[in-house]
Amino acid sequence: MKRLLILGAGTGGCMIANKMRKQLPPSEWEITVIDKSRNHYYQPGLIFLPFKLYGYTDEKGNVRDTTDFIPAGVGFVEAEIQRIDHANHRVETSAGSHEYDRLVIALGCHIEPEDIPGLTDGYGKNVFYFYTYPSALDLQRAVDDFDGGRFVLDIAETPIKCPVAPIEFACLANYYFTMKGIRDRVQIAMITPMESVFTKPICSTIMGDILRERNIEVIPNFSLAEVDSDKGTISSYDGHQEHFDMLVAIPPNVGPAVLDESGLGDGNGYCVTHPKSLQATRGEDIFVLGDCTNVATSKAGSVAHFEAGIVAENLLRSIRGEPLIDGFDGHSNCFIETGFNKAHLIDFNYTQQPVPGTLPLPMVGPFSLLKETHLNHLGKLLFRWYYWNLLLHDRLSGPMELFLPTRMSTLGKDPSYLNRKAA
Ligand SMILES: Cc1cc2nc3c(=O)[nH]c(=O)nc-3n(C[C@H](O)[C@H](O)[C@H](O)COP(=O)(O)OP(=O)(O)OC[C@H]3O[C@@H](n4cnc5c(N)ncnc54)[C@H](O)[C@@H]3O)c2cc1C
Repeated sequence: MKRLLILGAGTGGCMIANKMRKQLPPSEWEITVIDKSRNHYYQPGLIFLPFKLYGYTDEKGNVRDTTDFIPAGVGFVEAEIQRIDHANHRVETSAGSHEYDRLVIALGCHIEPEDIPGLTDGYGKNVFYFYTYPSALDLQRAVDDFDGGRFVLDIAETPIKCPVAPIEFACLANYYFTMKGIRDRVQIAMITPMESVFTKPICSTIMGDILRERNIEVIPNFSLAEVDSDKGTISSYDGHQEHFDMLVAIPPNVGPAVLDESGLGDGNGYCVTHPKSLQATRGEDIFVLGDCTNVATSKAGSVAHFEAGIVAENLLRSIRGEPLIDGFDGHSNCFIETGFNKAHLIDFNYTQQPVPGTLPLPMVGPFSLLKETHLNHLGKLLFRWYYWNLLLHDRLSGPMELFLPTRMSTLGKDPSYLNRKAA
């Protein structure tokens, strides 16, 4: 019996477990998933939770038992992964060691607030986060009590999970304080280490305009060095200081330490991964997907979904001894909530910037790219049902792939847009 081991039962791990159980005969391949937790959180809900929007008031509906998504015929082990011994094809865990013939790593990434001096000192008083469920619930209580002042959202450093989440958070803060009737007493600022609010230049200009229209101040090129919660200030490495009454920080995001400790990581816990084949560059029987890769695209569930198609294909090729395909193009898409029941939508890859058009059906939609619509907002809200019921179970393969192809499609998109914008 051969063994496929999948590390991590988050978005990427569940999808690949479902895909591979359909592809590999149970009489020949044993498949086991290992994760330290049985709780699977719906992370896109974290932007709504602090503001109690659209029914997102607590964990209800946003956390499920991981084993609900592990298909029949796949084993689940609840254990902490402590070392990947790739020379000997073995993984050491808190519950013993497991040997493998092929390994998939989908261990995600997480926040490390302790990496910034002073960031944890004022936690729960005037400093908050929202990238985990407990912290988003703490922030919810604080936002409820907030009566005015400078409300600062600070991205400590990049990369972060879901790079559009800060834009959405700032827009939803604007929406929330407006509905609460205190917007004139709240000064919202978004502080980022990047040159602008997003990585893709034209989309970044559009998103920057959206923030400015909502009277949200954007402060670029600010890399967070230190927080003084007593004085209510944050300082950058080049000596700039900003004041806050409430700080909502996005602490440094890092990959799991076990990847660095096992010689597979890039020093920040991200697995050094071939950007197109998704094979680990330091282990030929290892494939990687989701937030723990170091590939230069967004850390998003949509990316893990598109990567899963390539990882599955290359696992099968590697088992058959065939050459791998360089199939992953960096495809990513994301709804961007802008408040007042509207959202934008973007679709892009390693080389192509977001342009206007429609998704998933060319010319038909119903969702509009690079445009703020109520239907896009509805799509964002429907995404949770789609995540729990279709995505994690891999019920989107086959004919459904025509609508959401692994490789980005240019059908229904306006290719002349970028030239016009650049002119
Ligand atoms: C605020 C926010 C908003 C977001 N919004 C969107 C959105 O709108 N659209 C979108 O596409 N994406 C969004 N995302 C991103 C999306 O949730 C992630 O990209 C996706 O879940 C990544 O999947 P993954 O499998 O790589 O990691 P995860 O789903 O995080 O899973 C990693 C798993 O590995 C396990 N693990 C880690 N280390 C160990 C260890 N040492 N031992 C054992 N187990 C371990 C963890 O317990 C976890 O279960 C958002 C994220 C955040 C934080």
